[in-house]
Amino acid sequence: MSSRARTALHASLALAPAVVMGVLLALWGHKISAGVTAALTRDAVYVQGATHDYIVPERAWGDKIPVFVEKFLSRFPQDQPFRGALKPLTKRLTIEVMSDSDRFRGAAFGETGNSLRYNGGYFLESRSRILIDGSGETPDSLGPTLSHELTHAIMRYSFPTNPSWSPWLSEGFAQWCEISSADAKIGTQRNVTKLRHAGESPQKDSLMRILKATHADFSGAGNDWYYNASYALVTFLLENEDLREGLVRYFALEADGRAVDSPTEFNRIVAKGDVSAVERRWIEWLQKQR
Ligand SMILES: [Zn+2]
Repeated sequence: MSSRARTALHASLALAPAVVMGVLLALWGHKISAGVTAALTRDAVYVQGATHDYIVPERAWGDKIPVFVEKFLSRFPQDQPFRGALKPLTKRLTIEVMSDSDRFRGAAFGETGNSLRYNGGYFLESRSRILIDGSGETPDSLGPTLSHELTHAIMRYSFPTNPSWSPWLSEGFAQWCEISSADAKIGTQRNVTKLRHAGESPQKDSLMRILKATHADFSGAGNDWYYNASYALVTFLLENEDLREGLVRYFALEADGRAVDSPTEFNRIVAKGDVSAVERRWIEWLQKQR
């Protein structure tokens, strides 16, 4: 390559990285991973998968997200305890990551009517889309956030009965998938930190408080406690053989689509009528995590 050609190439890299990236993608046959192709639009890498579309504002994330999502979805049924009940997505889903927090909030308010001031992303069934506030995310932290929202999508699409999941179960399980995914990537630190926070004040960590939590509790100020406690509760139930079996049966009841009074059915199915005994184990278990 002559020096003139090199200079021209450097100029094009500096002035028009989008064009260069587009050419590279074109030369590359647009293939990123199995079943995933990419194209470049004016301000985003647009990645199309067999069942998912991705719109990513940061070019550096472009190749990480589709690979992560495909991997998460293909491993999901093997990794989770409700094998057979939850299925990898077959419905087309758009995943958009916005680099600007204000734009995210504007879009979130327009689509959900909720300001989502305290939440960094959501899954919207009516538009079959996941929207993430990517302003504070890095390529490493984005994977766990996506795992959380993908879990909501999977929990919805796996059942034609349209279950209206109890917030503690839906958020607890999404948190569990998110943190398992984070653990796989960055070690167990995040897991331990979440549990430690959940066990900080056992007197207010009552089982009833989390079982009765509403969607509003999970979207307002102070929602951290609810996310931590729902994660801790799902982890606690999964770690104890007798309770784990109860959780799977309880899960099936909600998956059936009928309205369920969570505290009553939890007492009947998971606690076998002795919710105080489970509560004592829960508090002891929380204290051990500190
Ligand atoms: Zn969630």
